Amino acid sequence: MLIALVGIGKIAVDQHVPAIAGSADWELAATVSRHGTVDGVEAFTDFGKMLDARPDIRVVSLCLPPVPRYDYAAQAIRAGRHVMLEKPPGATLSECHALMDLARAHRVSLYATWHSRQADKVPAAKAWLAGKTLRKLTVTWKEDVRHWHPGQDWVFDPGGLGIFDPGINALSIVTEILPDPIHLTEAQLHFPANRDTPIAATCRFYHPGGAEVTANLDWLEPGTPVWNIEAVTDEGTLLLENGGGKMTVDGQQHDAMPGLAGEYPRLYAQMADLVAEGGIDMDLSPMRHVADAFTLGRRVVVPAFEW
Ligand code: NAP
Repeated sequence: MLIALVGIGKIAVDQHVPAIAGSADWELAATVSRHGTVDGVEAFTDFGKMLDARPDIRVVSLCLPPVPRYDYAAQAIRAGRHVMLEKPPGATLSECHALMDLARAHRVSLYATWHSRQADKVPAAKAWLAGKTLRKLTVTWKEDVRHWHPGQDWVFDPGGLGIFDPGINALSIVTEILPDPIHLTEAQLHFPANRDTPIAATCRFYHPGGAEVTANLDWLEPGTPVWNIEAVTDEGTLLLENGGGKMTVDGQQHDAMPGLAGEYPRLYAQMADLVAEGGIDMDLSPMRHVADAFTLGRRVVVPAFEW
């Protein structure tokens, strides 16, 4: 299938372009970006012009930051195209619900991707936790924003999510692997004095079995990032490290799993299935927890942040 990639920036170049190039399902037929291009691929700067000029391209993948994404997604759906959304699927939950309604009305596929859910060990972690009694779950998600998002001011603009831009990846894994639903009960959000989104956060969640579920997120961690989820159960302790890439149970490493390697190749394989079925996959649970943190969180002002 022909696909167009919109927003040729960091994640498009790092992950989407190679994943599409390596897939038997997809052919990158056009890009839409004000500055970015991909060698050998027809490039547009105006989305509407691409939609008009290339009716043969039935699928678009949106790699823009969350705030501009809704307008592009709505335009694509109204033009009868299937749409794949980078995470988070929008700037607000209401936008995402509106897109779902629109996709149903236009009978097109819509996919809210959560790349971290496609990490190698996530299915094994989910299978291991099933049927066990959870006592405690601790998310520790710490990285250096200057290294991972150099100069990307949009992460600190309203709707950019701040530390929840990576933190939502952790929540996408937690909501996938936990057998029981959780909901946020308390949060502390650390806003730099000169910014509109938090640079660090702690969150506490209600768990129906009484387990202690917390998340500690920080964007000022120097050096090697820590992307860990530890789950203590009555039958041992599971540790997911490296954003779901490594799993140990009571210190014993889980063996490599066969299959298609890589988060983004898996996302594109799933998009191909979704289009073939005519399905909609819009699990908004990771984003709901983030929205709850902004609703319920206590604001703490911390020193100004400069790149
Ligand atoms: P980015 O490089 O800052 O932005 C992607 C591209 O979007 C830009 O190069 C720009 O292309 C276009 N764009 C930016 N603002 C726009 C606007 N207001 N209107 C229209 N186009 C705009 O961001 P990114 O790091 O790739 O992240 C994009 C999305 O991917 C985010 O939702 C992020 O959470 C997600 N993501 C990022 C990473 C990562 O490691 N960076 C990892 C996984 C997921 P033009 O200037 O050429 O138009």
